[in-house]
Amino acid sequence: MFEIVDKLEENHDLSDDFFKSLLSTDKYDAYLFSEADNVRRKIYGTDVYIRGLIEFTNYCKNNCYYCGIRAGNTNAERYRLSEDDILLCCGEGYKLGYRTFVLQGGEDPYFSDEKICSIIKKIRAEFPDCAITLSIGEKSRESYQKYFDSGANRYLLRHETADKNHYRLLHPESLSLENRKRCLFDLKDIGFQTGSGFMVGSPYQTLDNIVSDLRFLRKLNPEMIGIGPFIPHKDTKFRDFPAGTVELTVRLIAILRLMFPYALIPATTALGTVSPLGREKGLKAGANVIMPNLSPTAVRKKYMLYDNKICTGEESAQCKNCLSNRVSGAGYKIVTDIGDAKKPNKV
Ligand code: SAH
Repeated sequence: MFEIVDKLEENHDLSDDFFKSLLSTDKYDAYLFSEADNVRRKIYGTDVYIRGLIEFTNYCKNNCYYCGIRAGNTNAERYRLSEDDILLCCGEGYKLGYRTFVLQGGEDPYFSDEKICSIIKKIRAEFPDCAITLSIGEKSRESYQKYFDSGANRYLLRHETADKNHYRLLHPESLSLENRKRCLFDLKDIGFQTGSGFMVGSPYQTLDNIVSDLRFLRKLNPEMIGIGPFIPHKDTKFRDFPAGTVELTVRLIAILRLMFPYALIPATTALGTVSPLGREKGLKAGANVIMPNLSPTAVRKKYMLYDNKICTGEESAQCKNCLSNRVSGAGYKIVTDIGDAKKPNKV
């Protein structure tokens, strides 16, 4: 047993079979979770960092087959937040103790680089002690550089799947794994704290695909790793596919914590959607970040990436309260902190 943890932590030459046997049984779960929790406590104590998520546009030019806000979904009611709306969300978040704002959206051409940079500069000026995270998809290196120079510090871009064939099954021809990876390496190179990750249980995903995901993450060595179960959306061609499981997602969180001791790993909203105590389970298996919604209540139900998304009814303050209770119930504590990684992971 001890060998498993040593191997994951030391990044020995791990075989595909080693990973696949870990992933396909629950017999190591209790051990993996407690080892992962030990590692997170050694580095991060019981601290849980919160990131205020501002879903500022659900317009998107892409057609990712799994996503509820894909361009082709004519049932999606589209919205955009104004610059003032976004700043109001940040102000409210700041009062509630948030020191990171995540601007997430579809790939919306309305938000030109000029507009994005203007928003970044305003947040940077008004909240100099906060981190600004972007999650707005694939852009040119020049665009990323402009965002960075305007004051953004972090960027979230899940690779979604590291297998070329699997990527093709989830995305139309206009998108490629190659470009997604190019974006991620550009972001790192520019100096962004970079987040990547993938959906667990996405349509056609195999254990071999997940092994490729883990190996890709090793290569990229991101500061943040976000994984969550795939959840079907009624207006996509994957409507009848089963959702990813809380069990496999939580097992993967523990494996990631052991492989990347310093990483910032969220217990995601999707994990809380597939199971009422999903996020608590994620925290106990090594996750150390939560990303509550700061978007105005009026638009929350419109940012539906998947069906039955939780936390779309409450005001930001209520959300924060509910989460504080959940986090302390699980044995951890939400802190008011910018929440940078304590150290880069060794390569
Ligand atoms: N346009 C941005 C933000 C995408 S939304 C970008 O391309 O990065 C953030 C994440 O939600 C995606 O990266 C994807 O992994 C996840 N997501 C999308 N549809 C989902 C679904 N049906 N179930 C679970 N997660 C989903």
